[in-house]
Amino acid sequence: MELIIGSHVSYKAGDQLLGSVKEALSYGSNTFMFYTGAPQNTMRGSIDLELRDKAYSLMKENNIDINKVIVHAPYIVNLANIDNFDFSVSFLKKEVERCSILGIKYMVLHPGSATNCSRESATKNISDGLNLILDNDYDVKILLETMAGKGNEIGRTFDELKTILNNVEYKNKIGVCLDTCHLNDAGYDIGNFDGILDEFDKKIGIKYIGCIHVNDSKNILGSHKDRHENIGLGMIGFDNLLSVIYNDKLKEIPKILETPYVTKDDNSKEKEYPPYKYEIEMIRNKEFNSDLIKNIRGY
Ligand code: FE
Ligand code: FE
Ligand code: ZN
Repeated sequence: MELIIGSHVSYKAGDQLLGSVKEALSYGSNTFMFYTGAPQNTMRGSIDLELRDKAYSLMKENNIDINKVIVHAPYIVNLANIDNFDFSVSFLKKEVERCSILGIKYMVLHPGSATNCSRESATKNISDGLNLILDNDYDVKILLETMAGKGNEIGRTFDELKTILNNVEYKNKIGVCLDTCHLNDAGYDIGNFDGILDEFDKKIGIKYIGCIHVNDSKNILGSHKDRHENIGLGMIGFDNLLSVIYNDKLKEIPKILETPYVTKDDNSKEKEYPPYKYEIEMIRNKEFNSDLIKNIRGY
């Protein structure tokens, strides 16, 4: 089975899914992840079916399996917050429908944040919300992402995710997305990834894993920070990330990079170069190149 790897790509009004596929192909990817609009807001345009079908043809020509392509829900939606609960539920219902129109089978969602309530009621609000959202006939699964535990984020432990999942009625429509940076920052040592998977399997079940976000971390184990770093340049390190990417138990699971864009020079604040083509190449070769940043900048 071939490695299924890609990155976060953009989805723009002009060419929609077709543009996303083209961007993914430019990185040498065979899958990808996108937001159906801006990640930080909930404004969404209508889907052009002609562009979608053109995207399908291009995917077919290049062996990209639509069943492995991922949508990420906007990160401002917070099902834990009862004040915006109705809006969040109705937005996510529509987002699931949009995924279905696009033919996408998996939508990653940050579980939420206990901003003005206890963690217990936050967890309950999230599963209540999911039960309202997943009561549909669409073939779309929601994958709850493991979180770093920044602030009051829910989903920093497998126990917390388990509590949510246990209360979701639609077990065939719910799953988990593991994020390596978030796991590290939450206190799970990627240096012992087999141990992490064992714990996950006992508490939740490996079959619930639908996506892996592969990111290095700028911070140490248990820092609860959530700052992604380029592959091999952070505190997790290249070999530990390879142990996730090439894990035998996760062969069919898409691996998605969400590593930061690289600036033109060290002093520049502008984000300019996507690193994905270079990172995917290193991963496929299983060989770390310490000149990663130089190569991305084109020195
Ligand atoms: Fe995320
Ligand atoms: Fe992530
Ligand atoms: Zn993150």
